[in-house]
Amino acid sequence: MRTEILAVDRENPGEGPIRRAAGIIRGGGLVVFPTETVYGLGADALSPEAVRKIFQAKGRPADNPLIVHVEDKEAAALVGQLDERSRRLMDLFWPGPLTLVIRAAGGIPKEVTGGLDTVAVRMPAHPVAISLIKSSGVPIAAPSANRSGRPSPTTAGAVLEDLKGRVELILDAGPTAVGVESTVLDVTGDHPVLLRPGGVSLEDLDEAAGPVLLPTGSEGEGRSPGTRYRHYAPSLPVILVEAGKARTERPHLPGQGARVAYVGMSPPPAGVMAVACFTSVEEYAKGLFSALRELERSGAEVILAELPMREGVGLAVRDRLARAASGAEGPLDHWP
Ligand code: AMP
Ligand code: MG
Repeated sequence: MRTEILAVDRENPGEGPIRRAAGIIRGGGLVVFPTETVYGLGADALSPEAVRKIFQAKGRPADNPLIVHVEDKEAAALVGQLDERSRRLMDLFWPGPLTLVIRAAGGIPKEVTGGLDTVAVRMPAHPVAISLIKSSGVPIAAPSANRSGRPSPTTAGAVLEDLKGRVELILDAGPTAVGVESTVLDVTGDHPVLLRPGGVSLEDLDEAAGPVLLPTGSEGEGRSPGTRYRHYAPSLPVILVEAGKARTERPHLPGQGARVAYVGMSPPPAGVMAVACFTSVEEYAKGLFSALRELERSGAEVILAELPMREGVGLAVRDRLARAASGAEGPLDHWP
């Protein structure tokens, strides 16, 4: 399959590219489209055959459910059951990087939910994504547009690296703004449960609908199947160091004289051969996945990664780094 890339303006996507992309979605095909978090690999969420193509293209385990992208709250109400709390959260944080796990409506294919009775739903804050959903006339199921286990793509170039020849069309609107995926919040119980930290902070959710609970160990694994798998992994080993400790604490590096690349916010330790340094935690989140992809091409043997503080989007950056560093599949043994 030939993969076509169409450049689109974020604010003014234009009718031509959107109509073409929507035609592919309605025809049961796959389209990669930009959101404010990362690029998504989209298909008609109401078509089991179309959704199965997503899993094939990504090499994604079939029991890892997908996020359904909708154009607004009313469309979300057709996908699952809303209550007063979920409506309030939508009013406060939509459009934006908050995914809500709610009771699924009948008619949502089990391919989307991984066989669960819940569904994850979100309204992205990106004019191209919203135009595509509206023009398609169906909700769009979309995971991140990377091969399973690779860092999520924040540019069309990163999508091509992973999915060239596996998808018909990529809508390219430039680098994404948030850079890490959406926050996933389960609102089916008495208290909301944070299944994945992301673009909306735990502090803001706590204030709006707290207390927000953190899943621990096997409970988290059962509730959010995606957290079972190794994610966001570059092809090099990643070694973590706490904020501000990269220079002083001699990290345990495999082998003497290893070629080391560094990603973080503090100045890099001496002698590293490639550096990605960010001036704020928001920039860190925005640039993290591209940095991981770049550093793995640098000729380094190991990536030294500085964990930001557990504040704001820092929690999501810590989570992604911890997953990149965990060599084996399986749940993280502690909240990072
Ligand atoms: P991705 O689309 O690749 O960013 O991953 C979507 C995330 O949402 C994964 O971590 C999934 O496990 C999670 N998710 C999707 N649907 C559900 C659901 N019904 N219940 C719990 N977690 C879900
Ligand atoms: Mg993903």
